[in-house]
Amino acid sequence: GKPICECNSCFGGPDCSQFSDGCVADADSGDPVFLEPFWMQHAASSALVVAGWHRMSYVFDDQSFISHELEKHIRKLHSIAKNAVTSGKYIVFGAGSTQLLSAAVYALSPENSSSPAKVVASVPYYPMYELQTDFFNSVSFKFEGDASLWRNHTSDSTKNVIEFVTAPNNPDGKLNKPTLQGPSVKTIHDHAYFWPHFTAIPAPADEDLMTFTISKLTGHAGSRFGWALVKDEAVYQRMVRYMTFSEMGVSRDAQLRALKLLKVVLEEGDGKEIFEFAYQTMRKRWERLSQVISTSKRFSIQEILPQFCTFFQKVRGPSPAYAWLKCEREEEEDCGAVLKEANIIGREGSMFAAGNRHVRLSLLRTDDDFELLLRRINTLVSEQDRSK
Ligand code: PMP
Repeated sequence: GKPICECNSCFGGPDCSQFSDGCVADADSGDPVFLEPFWMQHAASSALVVAGWHRMSYVFDDQSFISHELEKHIRKLHSIAKNAVTSGKYIVFGAGSTQLLSAAVYALSPENSSSPAKVVASVPYYPMYELQTDFFNSVSFKFEGDASLWRNHTSDSTKNVIEFVTAPNNPDGKLNKPTLQGPSVKTIHDHAYFWPHFTAIPAPADEDLMTFTISKLTGHAGSRFGWALVKDEAVYQRMVRYMTFSEMGVSRDAQLRALKLLKVVLEEGDGKEIFEFAYQTMRKRWERLSQVISTSKRFSIQEILPQFCTFFQKVRGPSPAYAWLKCEREEEEDCGAVLKEANIIGREGSMFAAGNRHVRLSLLRTDDDFELLLRRINTLVSEQDRSK
């Protein structure tokens, strides 16, 4: 008969219980919808209603573009998560951390130098650093690729360098440290994933310029809201200038949504509930995936050691946002193609300036997406055993 429910493309039959062979496990994008069940549990308290005549002005009552109420909540959030020191730091808001990354590059670039700042990151790195820096195509900065290539060139103070340091890193989940040091090196610490969901928090981050986002914290990637913590006042002023000239501030609706969400985060279980939920979800996914991969010689995933977490006050196992999968067989140089053949879509290593022996698999999607991914990987790994 006709299905009563709408089955997704992977299931059929009257009660959607029959698995269809041809459907694809999509582990490509980093859309953080694994947090949807948390928000379903808090549907009423997180709901927002805004009357048409509310918040029409460009500015808040103090004539600024930022909600100080939201700023206060962000500082409290960091003190609960124990992931960043906010005292003595300014806060800038952005349309996602994406906008703040380019605001930071602008702010750290020399104003009147004949040579552009070299913008670098260590391989494998998040593609947007390069895409954005190239796109804005400025006389003040230029993307120069892998940070380690510049290790011996940073002592000359005329050579300004801006290094993106991503901790935990996208794609491999490592807590990266700066590769370059010296008087002419400035760093942007991208902490999009520095939450108890995805990593142990060894100590609160206390760098001069750090970016965060609600995208990977609450999962509301589509609201486009992020913030930067900035120590130096001149750098802060330049970032504010960037925000003013490019956008005249961040949407007040996005700020209102972020405030509502953070209120729920801070109220539930003394602010611990979302971290427990997110960590447990990511941890279980990682354990199950690791277990399957550990039986395989054909594939491997990155190793992340258990580490003491000051948030959970215990040693905790890894729970990264992505698996950085490697094809080990010599002839399987194009790992993305191997996976595609098995109906698994990941993001190829070359996107991260690494070789195509690696593929990034997103573990941030829905339970259904993850179950399907695991099922496909299981099949692939057991096929290999049969063919041995
Ligand atoms: N930094 C890293 C390392 C990311 O992976 C992402 C999103 N995938 C971002 C920044 C940008 O996130 P958003 O603009 O949604 O805050």
